[in-house]
Amino acid sequence: MKLIENKIEKLEQKHDLLGIYEQIEIAGRTAYKSLDKIEYDENGRSKTAKAFVDKMIELCHGSPLEHGTVYLLISGKDNIIKNYYYNKYSTCNLLPYPDNDGSPVWAVTTNYRVMVENNALDDLRRICEPTEFHEKRTTFRLTCARVQADSFVRHRVFSFLMESTRYCNYSNGKFDNEITVVEPVGWDDFSAVQQNLFFGVWNYAEDNYMTLIKTGVKPEDARDVLPLQLKTELIITGTESQWEQFFKLRISDHAHPDAKYIAEQIKEQL
Ligand SMILES: Cc1cc2nc3c(=O)[nH]c(=O)nc-3n(C[C@H](O)[C@H](O)[C@H](O)COP(=O)(O)OP(=O)(O)OC[C@H]3O[C@@H](n4cnc5c(N)ncnc54)[C@H](O)[C@@H]3O)c2cc1C
Repeated sequence: MKLIENKIEKLEQKHDLLGIYEQIEIAGRTAYKSLDKIEYDENGRSKTAKAFVDKMIELCHGSPLEHGTVYLLISGKDNIIKNYYYNKYSTCNLLPYPDNDGSPVWAVTTNYRVMVENNALDDLRRICEPTEFHEKRTTFRLTCARVQADSFVRHRVFSFLMESTRYCNYSNGKFDNEITVVEPVGWDDFSAVQQNLFFGVWNYAEDNYMTLIKTGVKPEDARDVLPLQLKTELIITGTESQWEQFFKLRISDHAHPDAKYIAEQIKEQL
């Protein structure tokens, strides 16, 4: 059994079309534990991202597509604005100045899933770098306890992807034949006796998991004995206003100390 600390990583996205594909690929492959399958060209760009995205569309796996943030600039005279103005997963902000022929211009923040499901991929010709008028959308990868991830996915307005305990087989070499557990933030405040009680239960759970797998039980069933503090990886993407609401709830005296610590780290990196 491995004991690790929480890890909070901001996943920066490039805002060209390939950057959107790359972000979707990183998010999806984090959940599917296949980051090692990404192939890079000499410029460090993914050669496998587009095929990964196309595969997700073919399989109707829509949620990875949500992590590809798309920024558009759309003229008010162009009726494609309706694809976003009435869409609850998009934000449309009016620029304070019109374009050359006097039409209003919209700064649109959306995601690739919205475009796929509205047959709007042609709108990608309006893609741009985020301007000061776009609501920014940011992705984080949290390496944290399953129990904390469970509380974060209650924030329904975000987009999520999570490591699957159904498909991860912790008894194989990819996971060094062991489970990984996340140290609670207040770990050092527990006495040695208390820490040993935690260790005892985590080790017992690990032993039973490995034995169940050895006797032919599938990981999707053997996982039932794993502890709440089991390490998971959670990809979470949200807009500035969604993060603000999250901080209000999770950086408070009522929040669990681990959730509060993670939320504070996200806020700092934002
Ligand atoms: C300190 C603390 C203790 C908690 N304890 C518990 C507990 O004991 N048990 C428990 O089950 N949960 C608990 N939670 C989770 C909590 O109930 C919320 O699920 C979580 O904080 C997400 O908040 P939210 O619903 O505002 O966020 P989101 O789901 O992200 O919603 C954001 C906003 O979207 C709108 N919205 C989204 N969906 C709907 C909808 N279907 N209808 C109407 N409006 C919607 C609302 O305006 C809402 O403010 C706790 C959370 C905290 C911070």
